[in-house]
Amino acid sequence: PATIALQNVSRRYGDTVALYPSDLTCDPASTTVLIGPSGCGKSTLIRIIAGLIVPDTGSVSLGGVRLTAQNGGELRQKLGYVIQDGGLFPHLSARDNVALLPRYLNHPKGAIERRVQELADLVQIPATSLDRFPRELSGGQRQRIGLMRALMNDPKIVLLDEPLGALDPITRSELQVQLKAIFDHLKKTVVIVTHDMTEAAYFGDCIVLMRAGQIVQRGALAELVEHP
Ligand code: ADP
Ligand code: ADP
Repeated sequence: PATIALQNVSRRYGDTVALYPSDLTCDPASTTVLIGPSGCGKSTLIRIIAGLIVPDTGSVSLGGVRLTAQNGGELRQKLGYVIQDGGLFPHLSARDNVALLPRYLNHPKGAIERRVQELADLVQIPATSLDRFPRELSGGQRQRIGLMRALMNDPKIVLLDEPLGALDPITRSELQVQLKAIFDHLKKTVVIVTHDMTEAAYFGDCIVLMRAGQIVQRGALAELVEHP
């Protein structure tokens, strides 16, 4: 079954319709890219998947389980969410940002340390950088620390809102290659928001084109090019 299944989800803010009733499914271990101009509803859609916004209509299922007010917290632990620039707490070191949730959940100290080291190796963050504060890191490093934090409890689903948006072109293309390798290796089901078509083409097994609160087209790149 689909790892993510949205049925008829919609959301408005007062008179503004951020998202008209929409359906979306994401296959296991696939990458779906939401692309469209600013204000078209991409963030609203990905935040609905993340359980951060409750849709006005419709249903969200993750791993075949429907999201409800009761199980929302539990289901959200099955996904990792990374926002632009990593979304790190500025007053905590990179390491403390990454370990925050498992420490709060009283996971064993040794296990947390091993997991942090494993993920640091995976995203290629040197140990010295883990003891820096977010402002002392480069944009690409902040993004990778944000990814480490999202991967800590090994979620099946990883959501990224504009992961490369704040980066210079060279860091951007390096991190793009690195992210794709990581997600392919870990077989995650990934949803990425971007407004960059090159990025969408690079990442997307499935590309979802959005405009003015609607999904106007979806498919593999080849399908979209052949039937524009
Ligand atoms: P995108 O991520 O594609 O830029 P958003 O999902 O952020 O689009 O926004 C979709 C529409 O909903 C826009 O018109 C935006 O101004 C509006 N919107 C989003 N969040 C809010 C909010 N909290 N209050 C009012 N309007 C909002
Ligand atoms: P993005 O395009 O990445 O969603 P924005 O700068 O549009 O970023 O939105 C940042 C925050 O402001 C979001 O939490 C969004 O929900 C909220 N927001 C967006 N548009 C409006 C709006 N018209 N009124 C109130 N809040 C908004």
